[in-house]
Amino acid sequence: MPFSFISRSIKAAALVCSGLACYARARRSKEATILTFHGLRGGKSDPQVLDYSLHLPVEVFRQTCAMLAKEYQVISLADLVEARSKGGSLPDNAVVITFDDGYASNYELAFPILKEFDLHATIFVTTGFLDREEMFWFQRVDLALGRAKRELLDWKINGRKLRLYLGTYALRQQSLDQLLVELKELPDADLLGEVSRLEAALEVSEPGFDDLPAAMRPMTWEMACEMSFSGHVDIGGHTHTHPILARCDTMSMRAEIATCRDRIHAEIGELPTLFAYPNGGSEDFTRETLMLVREAGFKAACTTVSGRVPDNASMFQLPRYGSPESVWEAKATVSGAFETLKDWRQRCQKVRSML
Ligand SMILES: [Zn+2]
Repeated sequence: MPFSFISRSIKAAALVCSGLACYARARRSKEATILTFHGLRGGKSDPQVLDYSLHLPVEVFRQTCAMLAKEYQVISLADLVEARSKGGSLPDNAVVITFDDGYASNYELAFPILKEFDLHATIFVTTGFLDREEMFWFQRVDLALGRAKRELLDWKINGRKLRLYLGTYALRQQSLDQLLVELKELPDADLLGEVSRLEAALEVSEPGFDDLPAAMRPMTWEMACEMSFSGHVDIGGHTHTHPILARCDTMSMRAEIATCRDRIHAEIGELPTLFAYPNGGSEDFTRETLMLVREAGFKAACTTVSGRVPDNASMFQLPRYGSPESVWEAKATVSGAFETLKDWRQRCQKVRSML
């Protein structure tokens, strides 16, 4: 278990047990919170997958849903957008659940839990992934490093020399982290070529959809339809092939957004109104991206920039928290305990600087 996970969980547990989460929950009840999940995994990790950061253990998701159902008001993202854009009111302690990418585990593991606790979620799907046209480039990199026979690769990228150690599972994970940072910097037009070059250097073939380990598999459109028709899930857009939109030219950005919208419309029978930017950091989309998403008919778009949703939030830059790794972290996040602690720290620093 990585140290950062343990320290995050201990910090969160301390905030909850000290009563700060309770205090923050009461004081910040008017602020809404949006949580981001990706895939879920049941049981043990599969050694074929190096990066499990996108696939939360199902038990943590279950405990989080049980806590949210008991102590919070889980509302749909569409309701939050409607209320915030038209000045309507929201219930106190409103929380929105979202999933990105469109993994089969959303249907197999998350959907039964959403039904059990009568909760709503929005799933942002990458339509080319559901069409089984193209898997995510980061999945190809994960599988390439995981299946390589060699123990070391010297790799030049972005003018830097990386020494990628591949001797053990842990070393492969570290090398993957190093590589992903660099690959995300590339212009979108160069990305897949670079991944193919890496596969060739590692002497592994390009994987097919049938090679994907269970956690990485896409949901089918039948799964998406069943969830959408249940009333527990809205299907939103997350582009067609999951590029970082800021690295795309205008034409491909527009095509990514429009194709995604049209594929969802064709399969689900409704035009999607909600969108999430791939990767979602403040550097991963531009002012032009916002305009193109709006132009395509979407009513709101989510980032992965951390924060609570203020009254005056921009509908095309909605902040979202990353997936909590424990129920303690979920509690500390949705209550606003982390923000309250941050505010106190800032005030203390201000007072200190005045003395
Ligand atoms: Zn994504």
